[in-house]
Amino acid sequence: MSDILLRGRLLTFHHAPMDAEDKAAYSYIEDGAVLMRGGMIAASGPFADVAQLAGDTPITDHRPHILMAGFIDTHIHFPQIQIVASWGSQLLDWLNGYTFPAEAEYANAQHSRAMAGRFCDLLTDHGTTTAVAFCSSHKASAEAFFAEAAHRNMRMIGGKTMMDRNAPDGVLDTAQSSYDDSMALIADWHGRGRALYAITPRFAITSTPEQLALAGALAAAHPECYVQTHLSENHDEIAYTASLYPQARDYLDVYESHGLLGPRTLLGHAIHLKDREIGAIAATGSHPVFCPTSNLFLGSGLFDDAGLRARGISSGIATDIGAGTSYSMLQTLNEGYKILQLQSQKLHALRAFHWITRGNAEVLGLVDKIGTLDAGSEADVVVLNPRATPAMALRMARAETLAEELFALQMMGDDRAIVQTYVAGRPQKKAA
Ligand SMILES: [Zn+2]
Repeated sequence: MSDILLRGRLLTFHHAPMDAEDKAAYSYIEDGAVLMRGGMIAASGPFADVAQLAGDTPITDHRPHILMAGFIDTHIHFPQIQIVASWGSQLLDWLNGYTFPAEAEYANAQHSRAMAGRFCDLLTDHGTTTAVAFCSSHKASAEAFFAEAAHRNMRMIGGKTMMDRNAPDGVLDTAQSSYDDSMALIADWHGRGRALYAITPRFAITSTPEQLALAGALAAAHPECYVQTHLSENHDEIAYTASLYPQARDYLDVYESHGLLGPRTLLGHAIHLKDREIGAIAATGSHPVFCPTSNLFLGSGLFDDAGLRARGISSGIATDIGAGTSYSMLQTLNEGYKILQLQSQKLHALRAFHWITRGNAEVLGLVDKIGTLDAGSEADVVVLNPRATPAMALRMARAETLAEELFALQMMGDDRAIVQTYVAGRPQKKAA
């Protein structure tokens, strides 16, 4: 593994800043450097200091671009990469009309492998170095996902989707087969290299109580694994769930009563929550995941970021491809900002960039490994050009502060603003 000294404007976070005055929350170094050695960050800081430690390590000079920790996407569907931007429906019809037919194709291992390569290319092209992914219900899709990530040495989290009812046969498993396949995948992949496993019941509607009980048994037997699912995205979904689980106090209780909540649980969407549910999310340390482009695309609703934060809950932020419409975490922040605007809530640019790096790493309990440029972290780094397009360059000519520059980057930027992505110290080629 080649060692590289990166030079550029360095930005890394120490905690969540609420505004630009919160200087202790971040380090910004105009002439900064990151020394990548053996796939890890050996040192970072002012160029003059780090260069002394670097000896004759070759320098890649990225000035005047910004060096930041690689972006983290906490909710994305690997087998939905060919149905992004499918027209016209809300959640349940969208699943039946587009999603399930596309996911059925992942029974084919060759198709899964081909798409896993494209998926990882798209992530790194957009500056994302870690993603938490739903694979399809087929074991082959999860195997392809983990094998591709291992090949690239990416820190990826994923799981085989568990779903044993209310979907076409081509995507259904059984409670027992989903348990057996998940067990085998955990044994094969969790903790192997940089891979981590997420136990993945799709959502209450597509799981029988028997399947959720087995998912809970898996979570109890493997507390080191994540749990990911969907919660309260859409009103019809909530009503359907209530009809399938009449004993449940509310939607969250379906998961809670099966032992699926905890600090390693990610709850996609979590838009239309009752007060009891918010209390239980807080009490269990579970994490809602805000998926702005998806929530707008499917017309699902407005995520109450400030309301959840006020209850001590820390949420992730994510693309939710393929209901989400962009792989870009910058575009995710753009739409997230607007969703909060509609509720008179604020998303400051510094907090926004913290969120897609260190914030999401904290949600995953991985802040000692990813999400910052601190020495000892894994060397996942993104290089950003805030002047990537003519329109951005014109805008940046009037940006007077770092916060202003970052805000315009978040609103206008996408994969064109990604100059380079490093995964475990290695530069990734942009896909043609
Ligand atoms: Zn989703």
